[in-house]
Amino acid sequence: MQNTKWKVRYSNTIISLALLISVIAIHYLYGHNFAVSVLSTWLPLSGKVIIIDPGHGGIDGGATYNRILEKDINLDVSLKLKKMLEKEGANVILTRSKDISLDHLNKKSEYRHKRDLISRVDIINNTMPDIFLSIHVNAEKSSPKTAGPMVFYHFDSVNSRRLAQYLQKKLEEAYAEVGHTTPKRKPYGNTSLFILKNTKPPGVIVELGFITNSRDRQLLTTQNFQTRIAKAIVLAIREYFG
Ligand SMILES: [Zn+2]
Repeated sequence: MQNTKWKVRYSNTIISLALLISVIAIHYLYGHNFAVSVLSTWLPLSGKVIIIDPGHGGIDGGATYNRILEKDINLDVSLKLKKMLEKEGANVILTRSKDISLDHLNKKSEYRHKRDLISRVDIINNTMPDIFLSIHVNAEKSSPKTAGPMVFYHFDSVNSRRLAQYLQKKLEEAYAEVGHTTPKRKPYGNTSLFILKNTKPPGVIVELGFITNSRDRQLLTTQNFQTRIAKAIVLAIREYFG
């Protein structure tokens, strides 16, 4: 009798323990996955495919001022932007993630610069992202006072225009926040810029500022401001999809 009681108690304990372990395991497995899926659908840019195209690279430095090269600023800001957009749930594709030009990716033109642009267009049109952003820095050697961001979109694309408007506003705010007041501009509708003219999805060319303006240049070459300006771009993208 004593023996049987002990057996029953023992087996009850085993069953309870087994149940408890199963519950913890199921909770952990399903609960965890559930939490992940809830989290990823809740993130503001979940499911959005975004191409970031850091202008120039490799042999092509873009705009220059002494030893400061546009291509480096473009890449630095783009890499920061990629990380931030991914944290918001976006799927981000960079046309380049290091200091290279892209002319070697096609033979569609005899001109190196043209081949480079064609590669970027091909990546965008083959991927068909929700949006793309080409990141650049402007230059105006004859007018060093000219400062601030400028955003270009294709004149016929309503969505590109909307994205450009949010970007122009948020970028100007980023400059204003650090005490650098730049001219209030409207985005520029354009029909001739190669990337805008030849791409199918909505997208823009973002000129972050002027390498020929001392304050723009000083800001655009500091990590802090690069982060700030990348954040401004994220806010604009969120507004666009919001
Ligand atoms: Zn450029």
